[in-house]
This record gives sequence, structure tokens and C-alpha cells, in this order.
Amino acid sequence: MKKTFVSKEKLEEIIREIPTPFHIYDEKGIRENARLLKKAFSWNQGFREYFAVKAEPNPVILKILKEEGCGCDCSSITELMMAKAIGNGGSLTMFSSNDTPDEEYVFANDMGAIINLDDITMIESFEKTVGRFPKTMCCRYNPGGVFKVSNDIMDTPGDAKYGMTTEQIYEAFRILKEKGVENFGIHSFLVSNAVTNDYYPMLAKLLFELAVDLQKKIGCHISFINLSGGIGIPYKPEDQPNDILAIGEGVRKVYEEILVPAGMGDVAIYTELGRFMTGPYGALVTRAIHEKNIMKHYIGVDACACNLMRPAMYGAYHHITVMGKEDAPLTEKYDVTGSLCENNDKFAVDRMLPKIDMGDLLYIHDTGAHGFAMGYNYNGKLRSAEVLLHEDGSFEKIRRAEVPADYFATFSELPIYKTLMEEAAAD
Ligand SMILES: *Cc1c(COP(=O)(O)O)cnc(C)c1O
Repeated sequence: MKKTFVSKEKLEEIIREIPTPFHIYDEKGIRENARLLKKAFSWNQGFREYFAVKAEPNPVILKILKEEGCGCDCSSITELMMAKAIGNGGSLTMFSSNDTPDEEYVFANDMGAIINLDDITMIESFEKTVGRFPKTMCCRYNPGGVFKVSNDIMDTPGDAKYGMTTEQIYEAFRILKEKGVENFGIHSFLVSNAVTNDYYPMLAKLLFELAVDLQKKIGCHISFINLSGGIGIPYKPEDQPNDILAIGEGVRKVYEEILVPAGMGDVAIYTELGRFMTGPYGALVTRAIHEKNIMKHYIGVDACACNLMRPAMYGAYHHITVMGKEDAPLTEKYDVTGSLCENNDKFAVDRMLPKIDMGDLLYIHDTGAHGFAMGYNYNGKLRSAEVLLHEDGSFEKIRRAEVPADYFATFSELPIYKTLMEEAAAD
């Protein structure tokens, strides 16, 4: 059974101050998990996790992870600004972008971030806009084809837009070395939400072999290998969680087989995990506000896909607990819906749940990564608040809910703006 990290009583206390819907995060869970990851890779001297900011872009969360030794992995200038603001300047930030606007390289370079080039043409773009190359550069690799663990096809890198081909990455390293780059990193992201302990070790093997060959053929110094994100979490009650200690050991084994004999035992391992770091430690709290019986039985809640897009976008499963009814029998089959004028705005379809009464609190699990972050404003819906549950049980609003004035703010240059703001103020 999947557990909630907060009690019904605590939620009711929070709701007196911060109305539903909101995302809530568990500081204790985030810290303990970050420590476990660190332990799993403690055999590697230079190990660092660069938290994928896009998964949960809140500076308070970034700061907590910084305290646990994590850097930031950014994909845009806005994320870079947050990383810089929380003190992750210099090599504590990785800039793993793609289709990158030139000016973002300037910002990333100015703050001293490690630049991860997605494409060979970016060498020229970078030189043209930034000028000199920093001493350390990283390149993103795409091996193409299909990526299998045992006989299961995990994903098809050949269809992915990211990274450089094998031929290109050799060429890129050659050019960068000529231009004075001294330390090199290799990065690759092949599988998302991998629920297997074998993904990282297999990816590591691929990248370690490439690293040995690049070092031999180009004569460049490889200082780190970035295994990026992709470690999954158990969204469904029957999913087996990954064992991060086993994953760390699996990577160590290939490290000792491939890198150490090649005299490359000083290579640092980096990760850019998002989902694994915060996913299970966040939940969307929403209230049942309508019940509708037509061809199907619907429960309408006060959150919608704008607060959590994954079910609508990918048909993703998010477990739901009806607070206070944890042990009640699952007698009803519901579709749990939001209020968007979109029929895919459903948090659950044909889900067996206890009988829901209007006003019940629903706790939608595992929204701590790619949850709030993927929010949007369709139908004029506003983004929710974010709440942090501290280790001592106290709570803190780490982002207020949007109000209509926020939605109207980008009309500020139009004559109608004043009227809109009058409406917002009168509401
Ligand atoms: C999305 C992303 C991550 C994080 O992915 P998770 O699946 O959340 O672990 C890491 N690196 C890059 C470049 C990404 O695009």
C-alpha cells in the first residue's frame, strides 16, 4: 500500500491557511533520499548529483538539495538564474540544454556553469557568441538504435533529438581540444523513468568504453562522465522501487572493469536526476467538489490537468488516497476529473476507490517531479501554491497560488490592462 507522508489532521491545519489545490513536499523524504544517493556513489571521489531543476523548479527545494551536496542541472536561462541565486555558481551548475539560444550560453558561461553541448554545430555558435572556450566542456552523446536491458527495449535513442552521433562526438572532442579545452565530460540520457537497477550500469558501460577510446584516440583528458537522469520511481503500488545502493554498486563494478584498467580511475561520476530526487516526496492535495452520474461515474475535484499534466499527457498513473479512508474498501469505480474543457483532464480513469463524499480530500501521489513544473494556464486556470512540510512538522508556503492579476500581467502594455486589473482587484 502506498503511504501518504502527511496526515489528514495536518492537511486540515494547512488548508485553514492555504486553500486547495496545492502541491506539498516532504523535506525529510527529500533529504534522506539525497543522502542515500550520495552513499550509493561514495566510492567515487568526485561524485556529484546535479538536480534536474526542470523537475521541481523551486528555489527553496534547490537550496535543500544544495545543503545535501547537490548542484543544479539547468535547461534554460530562467533555471540558470535560480541556480545562481541559490549560490550554485561555477561548476555547481551543469547547463544541459538543447536547441540553445545563443544568449543563454553567454549567461551560463558568465556564471561559470559547465556547458554541455547538445550538438556539434553548437561549437561554432558558442565560439561566435561567447568567444573563448572554458577549460572544461561536456558533450552529449546519442548512440542511436535501440537501448535494451536484457531483451527489453527500454527506449529508442535513434528517434531522440538529443546528442551527437558517435562520429560527431569524436570530431567535437578533436575540435574542442584544438581550441584549448583541457577537461572533457561525456553525457547521455537514454531512458526515462527506468524502473530497473540495470539501466545506469548499462549506460555506464557504454559511456566508459567510449571514454577510454576517446582518451586513446584524441588524447583528451576525460574528467567526468554524466549519467544524467532517468532513474524511475514506483508510481503504481505494485511497482518494485529501484535500489539506489545496488545501482551505485553496479556502476562501481563497470567502473573497475573498464576505467580503472585504462588508467582512468580519477574520472568523476555525475548524475542529473530529477524524478528520483523529488518525485515520491511531493503530492497534489485537492478536494472533491462534484459528483456526476451519467454513462460513467465522475468525481470532480478542484485541481485540473494544469496542476498535474502527466495523466492527461502520457496517460500516466498517479496513485490516489482518499484522506481518512485509507482502510475503507474499494467499492466504487470512478473517473476523477478536473474542470478543463478537455476530456483527457482526468487524474484517474476507472479507478477503484472508497466511496467519496463531497469535501473529501484526495491526495494524488508522486507529484514531486514533473508535477507543478509542467503546469500551464489553459482555460485561464491558475497555478497552485506549493507548500513545504518541514522535518519538525511545521509547514511553509514556498510559492503562493497565482491570482488573476498574474495571468493579466503580460497584457500590461495594452489599453485594456487597466480594466482587467480593476476586475481582478474587485474580485
Ligand atoms: C529531464 C532531464 C533530466 C532529469 O530527468 P529525470 O527523468 O527527471 O531523472 C536530466 N537531464 C536532462 C538533460 C534532462 O532533460
